[in-house]
Order: sequence, then structure tokens, then C-alpha cells
Amino acid sequence: MTDETYSSRRPGGALAAPGRIKEISSVSNPIVKDIRALAQKRHRDETGLFLVEGLKLVLDGIESGWDLATLVVSKAALQGGSEVLTRAVSRAVGLGADVVEASAKVLEAIARRDNPQAAIGVFRRQLMPISRIRLQPGEVAVALDRVRDPGNLGTILRTIDATGAKAVILVGDCVDPFSLETVRATMGSIFAVPVVKAKAAEFLDWRAGFTGQIVGTHMSGTVDYRAPDYAGGATLLFMGNEQAGLSEEMAAACSVLVRIPQAGRADSLNLAVATGVMLFEARRGALVL
Ligand code: SAM
Repeated sequence: MTDETYSSRRPGGALAAPGRIKEISSVSNPIVKDIRALAQKRHRDETGLFLVEGLKLVLDGIESGWDLATLVVSKAALQGGSEVLTRAVSRAVGLGADVVEASAKVLEAIARRDNPQAAIGVFRRQLMPISRIRLQPGEVAVALDRVRDPGNLGTILRTIDATGAKAVILVGDCVDPFSLETVRATMGSIFAVPVVKAKAAEFLDWRAGFTGQIVGTHMSGTVDYRAPDYAGGATLLFMGNEQAGLSEEMAAACSVLVRIPQAGRADSLNLAVATGVMLFEARRGALVL
């Protein structure tokens, strides 16, 4: 198992050495520089780390068993007596994470905005190998062909989580699921939904052994999106790129191409909206109030 493999193990475990606490007020501190560099994909790829803003999301990550490397907290909020933050610091130290008690300037520099959250977590990312995607009858996963927009990807991850779908497969050259914008848009669902990255050829290899249906969504689809039987077998919903839709090669890999009927002048729906419509239809029988 690599450090990037999806896992339910609690990082650090009971025997983890306690983390260290540092106070940092200068934005030119090397630790701050390293954390700020995680805004760039190259640094996330090199280190396997990514940023999560906000105490609730950081706690979600810890609860979900993701490996917290560093917790950056507002020194002012700690000094102001924030109990939740103090508890989070103890928890992080217990898990072996380093803690940075940061000045407002340092927090702003890391979050790259004014009024940043009082806690920012640096987590180790996790990816699932495509071979581990095995869907039972009635289960649904989503594949995205070259998704480019971080807001769309984050919203889709959140909707996959909300509908109880199993995973997302990012096919081809997709936006980074661990960018700050994507993670923000997931509202914590980044920790709940297994993410697979696959080159087109890898996806097609996996597809050859997949016994469920692949429901492709296409502006030239001739089947209504409500027609497939989503309850009987396993389903992979396949969504196209924001500009170009599904490539011909990927459309050919689908069992059926469906369309969501539209009124009015819009050419198409936004990708995240279309994915939401598809997910709620495919999971309709499984979702009850
Ligand atoms: N110009 C692109 C095209 O012609 O395919 C539009 C792409 S659309 C913005 C992005 C993706 O959302 C599509 O590839 C498809 O997966 C999905 N989508 C959007 N509207 C849809 C609809 N009415 N029916 C089926 N899928 C739709």
C-alpha cells in the first residue's frame, strides 16, 4: 500500500509519536513557504499533501481516518480561549501531526485571502486504484472525461457523497481533485468519496472487465435519461468535458447514450448540474427522506 492509496486505517495509530507545536508569525518562515507552495499542483504532486480550510473540515478529515501532517491554527483564537480549537490542537498532537500557531498574516498568506478560517489542515492525499472499483447491483459510480473546472469537480464530489454513490473516476487530463478550489467546493466530501485517476487506456482496460452498464450522457443521446434500469445491475454514469462533451472513443465505450430533455434556449446543462440530475435519477429508489 503506498502513502497515496485509499485506506481506512487511522494514520499514526495509537503508537504515533506526538507532534510538535511551533509558533510562527513571519510569512517568510520556511514552513510557511512550504505550506503556501501547496497552492501549486507541482508541489502537491511532489509532496502528496494538500490543504483543507476550516476546523469542521479538518475534523471531518481526521474522523474519516485521513493523515493530518500539519494543523495551522490562529494564535489569536487560541489565546481568546477557543475550546474547540484547543481540543483540535491536542488531538492533532496526539495523532503525531505538527501544529503551527500562526499570526493572522501567516493564515492569510496560506489561505490567500482576507479573513481566513481559524484552522487550516495539511493532509496527505489518497487515491484509489481503478482495480478496486467493484460495484454491486444497484450501486452507482461516476466517471468524468477530462473535467476541467475545479468548482464543477468539487460540486460533483459533494453530490456523489450526498446520493450515496461509490466513487469518481477521473479519466484523462482532469483538474486536480486536491486543489484548494476543488476541496473548498466539496465542503468536506473530499474525505468521503474515493477518487480514482485513470489514463484513457487504463479506463478502457478496466471497462473491458466491468459487467455493469455504462450510461453515457450526450447531447446527441437518443435515449431518455430515465429509461435505463438503474436498480437491476451496477451503473457507471459517464459525463463529458465542459466544452467538448464525451470524446468519440469514450462515447463508444458506453452501453447507452442518454440525454436529459431541455426546454428553452440553453444548448446544454452545466456539467455539475447534469451530474446531479443523473445521480438523483440513478439513486432514486435508494434515497428516502
Ligand atoms: N458542447 C458540449 C457538447 O456538445 O457535448 C456541452 C457539454 S456540457 C456543458 C458538459 C456535459 O454535461 C456533457 O458532456 C454531458 O455529460 C452533460 N450534459 C449537459 N447537458 C446535458 C443534457 N441535456 N443531456 C445529457 N447530458 C448533458
